[in-house]
Amino acid sequence: MYKLIDGKAVSEYIKNSVKEKVADLKVEGKEITLAVIIVGNDPASRVYVNNKKKACEYVGFRSLEYALDEQTSEQELLELIDRLNKDKSVNGILCQLPVPEHIDEEKVIDRISPEKDVDGFSKINVGKLWVGDYDLAACTPMGVMELLKYYNIDVNGKNCVIIGRSNIVGKPMAALLLEKNGTVTICHSRTKNLSEITSQADILVAAVGRAGFVTADMVKEGAVVIDVGINRNAEGKLCGDVDFDGVKDKTSYITPVPGGCGPMTIAMLMNNTLVAAEKQGEI
Ligand code: NAP
Repeated sequence: MYKLIDGKAVSEYIKNSVKEKVADLKVEGKEITLAVIIVGNDPASRVYVNNKKKACEYVGFRSLEYALDEQTSEQELLELIDRLNKDKSVNGILCQLPVPEHIDEEKVIDRISPEKDVDGFSKINVGKLWVGDYDLAACTPMGVMELLKYYNIDVNGKNCVIIGRSNIVGKPMAALLLEKNGTVTICHSRTKNLSEITSQADILVAAVGRAGFVTADMVKEGAVVIDVGINRNAEGKLCGDVDFDGVKDKTSYITPVPGGCGPMTIAMLMNNTLVAAEKQGEI
């Protein structure tokens, strides 16, 4: 019988522990601030930004929102980031992705001061992650690691297979699992014999972006299956990359969608903001 990994419960636990620390800091007259920049009117981005704002309110952070017009120039955006970098009252900065096409995403990410880069996307923070000396790493894979820790799922010596090699999920996921002594394989769209590789996985992480991509024949009996995907199926219902009903009985642990990795990402963003403030000497 499989166990359902309850990302909602674990995310509440993490947010509550941040909230407690924030309350203590308030007593000392200290406040933590997260600045969120959104450029344009992408509806999905709007939802994500609103959720981040709500989470800030929940844990007691001050949140600043900069909603910029779709036509905002790259220069204007970079100047705003420069101002926020210099502002000592701002502890964390994130720019909601994607940005409009006329703006160079990489330039934006790398302009955010590494100490305030709470998404952990900048090259400095990615490099620090890969040498195992990091404070701020990408929130979604950090959330997966917290789920594994919460459920006492040991990574040491396990075959870990990740489907997906994006900079925001697949690659940092690999670095984090490797750090915990997993034997890590990263698969992608050019991978040959994908099911042969995934069937060897003790821990399988799906970050593909295709509804129901992982089917039972791709999963080893007793595997831990982590579904990072957020997709809509033909009926418009939210679903992951894993064919949950077909796969669940083969697993020992599995994350649902929704209620698995999704809530963890925002919880880890809150945690990263607290860590950033600590590193800046604000706490
Ligand atoms: P992405 O940048 O589009 O990357 C998808 C990866 O899947 C790529 O590496 C791609 O390979 C690989 N892929 C595509 N088709 C494949 C195939 N047939 N066989 C094997 N690999 C294949 O997506 P992402 O940003 O990493 O996101 C992945 C999913 O996670 C999406 O559903 C996204 O919405 C979700 N997500 C969730 C959260 C959360 O908070 N839970 C956060 C971020 C993302 P190539 O590199 O070769 O193209």
